[in-house]
Amino acid sequence: MKLVLMGAPGAGKGTQAQMLKEELKVPHISTGEIFRDNIKKGTELGKKAKEFMDRGDLVPDNVTIGLVENRIKEDDCSAGFILDGFPRTVKQAENLDRILEKSGDRIDCVLNIEIPDEKIVKRLSGRRVCKHCGKTYHMSYSPPEKDGLCDLCDDGLIQRKDDRVETIRERLNNYHRQTKPLIGYYREMGILKEVDGQGSIEGTFESLKKMLGVNE
Ligand SMILES: [Zn+2]
Repeated sequence: MKLVLMGAPGAGKGTQAQMLKEELKVPHISTGEIFRDNIKKGTELGKKAKEFMDRGDLVPDNVTIGLVENRIKEDDCSAGFILDGFPRTVKQAENLDRILEKSGDRIDCVLNIEIPDEKIVKRLSGRRVCKHCGKTYHMSYSPPEKDGLCDLCDDGLIQRKDDRVETIRERLNNYHRQTKPLIGYYREMGILKEVDGQGSIEGTFESLKKMLGVNE
């Protein structure tokens, strides 16, 4: 089964991808991992990707697409794969289709994990971390015993910049702006399935399996 997994930052996509990988026995392919792997192995495309990353620039489409193409041609992908973080744009999606078409293949299903932005903001903005030992807390789900203080070392808890409401909102806005056309593209192809990600991790996983018809 060839899958694309989509979902906003904080929607729990990574966790679900790991669980699906175990269930379907196909590799979980994230672009971050492909970049790291190719840079480590010193491949030509890896070297190119590194040049851009070292400058703090986005890796251009042609490099990313080339890396994904090489990865999905590997033996472990013969029964399928779960793509995570790719494609990000319609152009990348069209290229992916073209690559698969060469071997008479296509993406079977695009799973989009949906959670209202407000819930994601609540989930992420409640995080706190001890500035001394780094232990993490959540104001609603796993609060410290004493308000604002670490259980282990009694030092103060802080909110990371990434967990601030403004930062989260900005990330979500960027995500929606970028992926809206992509979601439209896959909806038009008739392969988009939307899954409610508001429930528990297990509940969301059950919904995903049901969508894929692997519940039995
Ligand atoms: Zn601490």
